[in-house]
Amino acid sequence: MKGDKKKKIIKTIRIDVDKCNGCRACEVICSAFHAAPKYSSNNPARSRIRIIRDPLKDIYVPVYAGEYTVAECAGRDKYMIDGKEYDECAFCRASCPSRDEFKEPDSGLPLKCDMCESDPPLDEPLCVKWCHAEALIYEEREETVPEDQEEQEDMEIGLESLADKYGLQKIMDTVARMSEKD
Ligand code: SF4
Ligand code: SF4
Repeated sequence: MKGDKKKKIIKTIRIDVDKCNGCRACEVICSAFHAAPKYSSNNPARSRIRIIRDPLKDIYVPVYAGEYTVAECAGRDKYMIDGKEYDECAFCRASCPSRDEFKEPDSGLPLKCDMCESDPPLDEPLCVKWCHAEALIYEEREETVPEDQEEQEDMEIGLESLADKYGLQKIMDTVARMSEKD
């Protein structure tokens, strides 16, 4: 019924920037997990986490891929860390038309962290498991949300994994063909 509520597990990864040593193991395992077939290759350019690195200043900042955005921002942020100014878009999580980060290198499709969704589910995300510096900490909490919100999110995750597997254009062509049959 519309307006019904249900419990939902919210998954988060807390980042302890001070512990990250820039080893990039998280990028390697994330790209391997999302390779097709799974673990057949690894390429950090396909990872849903990337490490902003400045080894001379001992600065390493893990950034997770977030939502895709169709338009670039009208305003930008600048960050100063230990006297170094970082690129306006350096710490942004979005896959965005104005830059190459968080895009599948071959197809250009947007990449987004899916918390290592798999069937059967993993006990914790692989980047967390592979981070021996304990810079990534997996946490879960329970929240009450509208029932249709979860259905919408499930549908988005399903569409994303289909797009990962077959490519966005192929899915759109299939949907167009199916609508013609109706
Ligand atoms: S695995 Fe951990 S320590 Fe290594 S780069 Fe990733 S977050 Fe940093
Ligand atoms: S949680 Fe999984 S999908 Fe997300 S960045 Fe880590 S390894 Fe990649």
